[in-house]
Amino acid sequence: MADPEPIYIEFLGTGTSLGVPMIGCKCCVCLSENPKDNRMRTSLLIKYHGKNIVIDCGPDFRTQLLRAGVDDLETVIITHEHRDHIAGLDDVRSINYILRKRVELRLSEESLNAVEVEFPYIFNPGDYKGAPQIDLVNLDDEPFELNGLKFIPLLVMHRNMKVYGFRIGDFSYITDANFIPEETMKLLKGTKVMVLNALRLKKHPSHFSLDEAIEIAKEIGAEKTYFTHLGHLIGMHDRVNSSLPENMELAYDGLSFSVPYS
Ligand SMILES: [Zn+2]
Ligand SMILES: [Zn+2]
Repeated sequence: MADPEPIYIEFLGTGTSLGVPMIGCKCCVCLSENPKDNRMRTSLLIKYHGKNIVIDCGPDFRTQLLRAGVDDLETVIITHEHRDHIAGLDDVRSINYILRKRVELRLSEESLNAVEVEFPYIFNPGDYKGAPQIDLVNLDDEPFELNGLKFIPLLVMHRNMKVYGFRIGDFSYITDANFIPEETMKLLKGTKVMVLNALRLKKHPSHFSLDEAIEIAKEIGAEKTYFTHLGHLIGMHDRVNSSLPENMELAYDGLSFSVPYS
């Protein structure tokens, strides 16, 4: 019998690496008073059967968990090793201390290499007793199960860097890509809710522009597509949003929805 509980999805952050507003910028997006124009670094919360999984933990991680009322965490999955996706890893210590539990960290070998350089004290704590307590799990092309959800890794390219997106039932999530290989497009077939990155209006060497993302979204043909990892050069949320095709939307921090899962 199908499990009646849907997957709860919440965007903890929808901004590019510098966030929006950008420090020092006086453009209309950075000065906007619309909370939807205020974007922390890209991160996603997936809640299922009361358990939380977060995809990416950038520099805003602590604030994001506090803001979303997340006080427990099973797993952090890392899409790729850029700092805006890993810099907040140290904050899992709160979960370690308060709940006295370890947090699983799923990441590729390449991402692990970067995390080892960025957070050497996790791996060689010496006398230091306060290092984050994490359980490492390798992430590759193989599907895996977490909290009763089946995750299908979606390999995409971020210029020369491998990035993992994920398909979970009818929900698919891809950030930091400028190319989706044919094999991955096949894995996206039939997905109903799609999240894709779109950095800005103009072309960029390692991110989809908005037009490119719209074209790919049409090709994938999900019932609903949200765009994330947005920079200030995307323009004002409300204005851009109203110009998008009917079944596409800019995501914003705090946006949440449920997707049926069976
Ligand atoms: Zn990024
Ligand atoms: Zn990146």
